[in-house]
Amino acid sequence: MEITRRDFLKGSLLLGGSLFLSPISLCARQKKGGEWHPAYERLEQEGTLAQRVEQAYAIFENCELCPRQCGVNRQNGERGFCRGPARPMIYSAHPHFGEEISLVGKNGSGTIFFSNCNLRCVFCQNWPISHEGKGKKVNDEDLADMMIYLQKTGCHNINVVTPTHVMPNILGATRIALKKGLRLPLVYNTSGYERLEILKILDGIVDIYLPDMKYMDADHAAKYSAGAADYPEVAKRALIEMNRQVGELQIDKRGIATRGLMIRHLVMPNRVAGTEKFVKWLAESLPKSTYVNIMPQYRVEYEAFNYPKIARGITVQEFLEAMEWAENYGLTNLDPRSVAARNFYSQRRSG
Ligand code: SF4
Repeated sequence: MEITRRDFLKGSLLLGGSLFLSPISLCARQKKGGEWHPAYERLEQEGTLAQRVEQAYAIFENCELCPRQCGVNRQNGERGFCRGPARPMIYSAHPHFGEEISLVGKNGSGTIFFSNCNLRCVFCQNWPISHEGKGKKVNDEDLADMMIYLQKTGCHNINVVTPTHVMPNILGATRIALKKGLRLPLVYNTSGYERLEILKILDGIVDIYLPDMKYMDADHAAKYSAGAADYPEVAKRALIEMNRQVGELQIDKRGIATRGLMIRHLVMPNRVAGTEKFVKWLAESLPKSTYVNIMPQYRVEYEAFNYPKIARGITVQEFLEAMEWAENYGLTNLDPRSVAARNFYSQRRSG
């Protein structure tokens, strides 16, 4: 199904039933004449952003955008493991208030959910979007207009969710949107299953990397993420590269994230996520002040019911031990809500 830009913006930016906010309701809160500029603006001024877009688009002809390296020609309509076409499919675009505090601020994170996925976990919480590919096909111009719309609503960033298989489109749209006045940080919200060669194309374009670190064990990765046994090694390399590009998280005076690496780690039942190994590796491989969100919200979704080890939520004990490992290995920049949850459960236990 295809829609025009006008249809999309007229109808609302929502296919997923989220709230519609009028573009005139809030003005973007970027400081006029302030010093902060998005990374992609500098690259455009240097004259290299167009080359990066071209370089990225060329990959569609023999798709190796992710470690699956299917080699299909998506420009000719072939589909690889992710099932994504060469044009982006979008499920929804809206201000989102469920992300980390420094991304949400007062006006929300400008979240764009892309359909399809290159990892396809059996416990996916967005399975109608990621596995079934629900969404509508747009072009780069439409995508750019969504970015501009989100800026007009006052969102603090453009948060592209599951971007790996549509990276060329995101780059193309960002360049178009830049010419239309986009000046928000670009947040690359990824599973972490990213090739180094592809991340290097993003160097100087992405302001904030928001990767998951899902597992540290190849067998778990293969079992629960469609055979991706290389996930732990791939994701570790990717996190180090992301840190090289954007460094530690930077927050402005309003408490809004402007640049840096923010890692998410979902605690899973029966230690499937390898949390202790993960925090140990992080403490040895990245600055201990790297922002990390140890997340307790694992739910049994999609096909997880069929896998006994992950067919239940986590216990309080599992969350508390995860936080304790993170602190024992010296991590100093843990998400404040996770710390508050840890404090709450600890007090309740001792009370
Ligand atoms: S992005 Fe899709 S088609 Fe391309 S290599 Fe990855 S899974 Fe295959």
